[in-house]
Amino acid sequence: MNIFEAMEQYGHEELVFWYDHTTGLKAIVAIHDTTLGPALGGLRMWPYDSEDDAITDVLRLSRGMTYKNAAMGLDLGGGKSVIWADSRHDKSEAMLRSFGRLIQSLGGRYITAEDVGVNADDMAVIARETEFVGGLKETSGDPSPATAVGVLEGMKAAMKMAFGSDDFHGRTVAIQGLGHVGSLLGEMLKEAGAQLIVTDIHPEEGKQVAERLGAKWVEPQEIYGVEADIFAPCALGAIINDDTLPQFKCKVIAGSANNQLKEPRHGLELMRRGIVYVPDYVINGGGVVNVADEFHRDGYNKERAYARVRAIGKQVGEILTRSQKENIPTQEAADQVAEHRIRELGQINSTYIPE
Ligand code: NAD
Repeated sequence: MNIFEAMEQYGHEELVFWYDHTTGLKAIVAIHDTTLGPALGGLRMWPYDSEDDAITDVLRLSRGMTYKNAAMGLDLGGGKSVIWADSRHDKSEAMLRSFGRLIQSLGGRYITAEDVGVNADDMAVIARETEFVGGLKETSGDPSPATAVGVLEGMKAAMKMAFGSDDFHGRTVAIQGLGHVGSLLGEMLKEAGAQLIVTDIHPEEGKQVAERLGAKWVEPQEIYGVEADIFAPCALGAIINDDTLPQFKCKVIAGSANNQLKEPRHGLELMRRGIVYVPDYVINGGGVVNVADEFHRDGYNKERAYARVRAIGKQVGEILTRSQKENIPTQEAADQVAEHRIRELGQINSTYIPE
């Protein structure tokens, strides 16, 4: 891989490689854009097939964080980090603390948090070496409840656009993935009066959740074509693609999964088919909004954080309206909002203010 070419293509500022001989830690931090503030984004521990795969992933994910943090109205740039290792076998206290020292050495340009392969306990270990960590148990904690609340609010905004009402009574929602976010979302939807159809690749646990929710269970490959008003992808990315598009009977797609569109053209196709797609990085921003509240000058406040999470509904409404008015796919409208904010706020920094 030609790294500088890739950084130019994605628009990155900095890519940091860190190797610790004793623990075997191989870590990469990607700082995509710090126009709005320090770069915030999670740490992923993953056994990549190759170095190039690890670099591509961290570049792609950090760029996504710039857009997400900007669209959420946060004073934070975008970044992400990866540890090239298998979280089930390779993780050790020394490895995590070595990673913490890497983060500290960046002096606050990058703030880390949880992502795939690391948990709140790991974050506490990392925090013994650096102050630049978010989402610790004693502060904002697990981001999933906030993410689920944001998804519900975003879904309601899309329902207003698609059905003229955000009343869940008489509506059916299909949930793909009953993990942290999907199961919480299911509970809130049940409470709101929706009928549920659910699936997960782990049927034993999944069927138990389905029973608790009073939901209909279907096999994983069936979820795309079920008779539902809303499809909520809460498992994995690229699930809107050439194979799934013809199967959708829903009018709204609104869920927490990252990178839902396999390619941008699939967003255009959803628009053509009259399906309201809520851009993933906007609807799933609740978790990061909650973590970001830790950096408020008065410290974390759950009420204030959740008020901002619930405002995702309004933000989604504005993006959907923009997409409709300009006749562009919703993800393009979201990108425009994020890019506009970065551009405008970047310009105000050009004014010299004496210290
Ligand atoms: P999770 O790992 O707890 O849950 C994911 C669930 O999806 C698991 O139960 C898994 O078995 C299931 N699954 C995987 N592949 C599947 C398939 N093909 N069909 C059906 N089910 C499948 O993860 P989570 O924290 O609930 O996050 C869900 C999604 O939301 C992920 O894409 C994640 O990146 C995204 N997200 C999560 C948060 C958060 O706060 N947790 C924030 C932003 C985005």
